[in-house]
Amino acid sequence: MREGLESVRVVLVGTTHPGNIGSAARAMKTMGLRRLVLVDPQRFPSAEATALAAGADDLLTRAQIFSSLEEAIADCVWVVGTSARSRGQSVPLLPPQPAANALLGHVAGGPVALVFGRESSGLSNDELDRCNAFVQIPTDPDFRSLNLAAAVQVMAYACRMAALDEGEEQPIEEGYDPPATQEEMEALFEHYLRVLIQIEFVDAERPRHIMRRLRHLYQRKGMTASEVRILRGILTHTERGGGRRSARP
Ligand code: SAH
Repeated sequence: MREGLESVRVVLVGTTHPGNIGSAARAMKTMGLRRLVLVDPQRFPSAEATALAAGADDLLTRAQIFSSLEEAIADCVWVVGTSARSRGQSVPLLPPQPAANALLGHVAGGPVALVFGRESSGLSNDELDRCNAFVQIPTDPDFRSLNLAAAVQVMAYACRMAALDEGEEQPIEEGYDPPATQEEMEALFEHYLRVLIQIEFVDAERPRHIMRRLRHLYQRKGMTASEVRILRGILTHTERGGGRRSARP
């Protein structure tokens, strides 16, 4: 079995029913996933969550809680969002197994996350925009929405299958350029927006569309930390009005 399941973080955003948190923990533990992260749960801790965890309550005890998705995934190098609906995104929409393979393929670079949305409304567009790829579990098109914990089970199983597939593990070589973390990517996008407004490429009042396209462009394949530094060097240089070499990183 390949290493890596312990690096996969399952992030549940805005869960309403504590029973779903417990069932999700159970689903994770059966497949060897251990890191549960909750973003703004409505009711937690809860006896209902513990009951439905059915022996996976150690995951609940160790669950980390954050108030935003941004904080929950700041140190992650690859983030896969799940959605019952396709939302016309320009980020790849993958079936479960390729998404899980890609997730496990990134664990050498740092923590990775699988993100699940609210029972009522799923993930917001802003939250989906923070993901490198999306998964839609191919259900009956007339009845697409799985129960949250059932979706966690399908994805946890796909992760286990990816880990069981011994596959090629890339050795970390000297001079290895680590993937950028979400925090570094967010700092890049903030910098980008500032400069695009300064050079009047976007309207400060309505920058959203172009920023979403740029996010998707840069997140699709993932960037390394040094690539982010190069782009930020160019942005800093642009901010200062160009000139010769003064702002090279
Ligand atoms: N009404 C919501 C459904 C939310 S179901 C919506 O339309 O988005 C709660 C969560 O379970 C979703 O946010 C997603 O994380 C997961 N989920 C449910 N069905 C899924 C599917 N077919 N593929 C991927 N994730 C799914």
